[in-house]
Amino acid sequence: MKFFGKKDVKKTSALANSLQNEKVKSDIIVNTIDDGVVMIDDQQIIQLFNPAATRITGWLAGEAVGLDYKLVLKLVNEKAEDYQVDQHPFARVFMSKSNAHDNSGDLLSKNGKNVAIDISVSPLIGENGEVQGAVGILRDVGDQRRAEKQRADFISTASHEMRTPVAAIEGYLALALNEKVSKIDSKARNFLEKAHESTQRLGNLFQDLLTSAKAEDGRLSSHPVAIEMGDYLVHLTEDLRFVAEKKNLAMEFVVGSSTEGNSYADASRVIAPLYYCFADADRLREVITNLFDNAVKYTETGKISIGLTGDAKVVQFRIHDTGPGIPAEDQSHLFQKFYRVDNSATRTIGGTGLGLFICKKIVELYDGRIWIESIVGSGSTFFINLPRISSEKAAQLQAQEAGQMQSIVSAAVVTPAIVTPPSKI
Ligand code: ADP
Repeated sequence: MKFFGKKDVKKTSALANSLQNEKVKSDIIVNTIDDGVVMIDDQQIIQLFNPAATRITGWLAGEAVGLDYKLVLKLVNEKAEDYQVDQHPFARVFMSKSNAHDNSGDLLSKNGKNVAIDISVSPLIGENGEVQGAVGILRDVGDQRRAEKQRADFISTASHEMRTPVAAIEGYLALALNEKVSKIDSKARNFLEKAHESTQRLGNLFQDLLTSAKAEDGRLSSHPVAIEMGDYLVHLTEDLRFVAEKKNLAMEFVVGSSTEGNSYADASRVIAPLYYCFADADRLREVITNLFDNAVKYTETGKISIGLTGDAKVVQFRIHDTGPGIPAEDQSHLFQKFYRVDNSATRTIGGTGLGLFICKKIVELYDGRIWIESIVGSGSTFFINLPRISSEKAAQLQAQEAGQMQSIVSAAVVTPAIVTPPSKI
């Protein structure tokens, strides 16, 4: 049997003391920190629940510890619908074995109150790579979300109010520039043309601000229907062609991947697959027009191509230009609000930095994805993937839509107008 010497005993007790000290320190941190800390084990049972988690959720540690996290950390989305089981960040950590973050949902407290929450979860990985548990950090972001909402409301009201007088000024300037209506000398015409251009830019800025404020708080109107993207893009490119040709840029519409594709000139002779999506046609037009206008705006010579392809699940369209390209370090910021690449082109070419932000928000409305591939000096390609729906599903949706239209028309014809007799004075 091996006995500890006096020295060893001293060493062991020093180690015990220091371990004890470390535990005391981490207990102090966990118990005083302002963020909620919740730890679960591999059976998804809560093992640790700090006082801040109690403040946020309304559950006492004694009640929460030992329960499944799903009973205590109930999350709902902005439409007050429960999260699907696999959407919960704790569940996502177990599936992906990596961190998960969510800043869009509300937590339903024990008393049924909605708490705006930011939740970050990290996995606890065992020696064999298995997830042994997870630690979540909860933060009440109610004040932050209220401030964001006030800011968005202000932008939306201000831009709405300012759009009307700007539209009036633009209208009067257009009248002044119309030779059939007014007679002005060439110097005045030059000034007024500049004023007209700037007013148009201002009008676009207010419109973009309004749309982005709506997109942020989920008020963007959308009436999705089944759209056949091939047909839709053929018509849209016809309208856009004019914009490219004005700048002497060639334009093509390609069905299929870029190498094996059929150019638009032959499109009528090609039996292209029917690529159906479920989206609002006007919103999609906004996205494609915006990407196309950018392609034209930033490209001096060459060609703009619009492409369409897809597989069983996805419809993909792309807009390619032979412009200056976008540096890799800017690409990840491109879809953020007000982001503009800082180069000589953007310093001289007007813009708001809101277009791509709005495009992303619209694409996400239809569960789609937008991204860019670009090499400086070789042009840029913007890609959009949207979920594809089958022809049968599209026919069913179109029949439903037609049925609804029919019942609206019949109701309008059948319902007699209710005429209120004028009240006697
Ligand atoms: P903007 O109103 O400035 O065009 P966007 O959000 O539409 O705003 O675009 C953001 C920035 O991305 C632009 O300012 C520009 O620097 C860059 N950009 C967008 N499209 C292209 C393109 N096709 N080629 C080169 N740069 C582009």
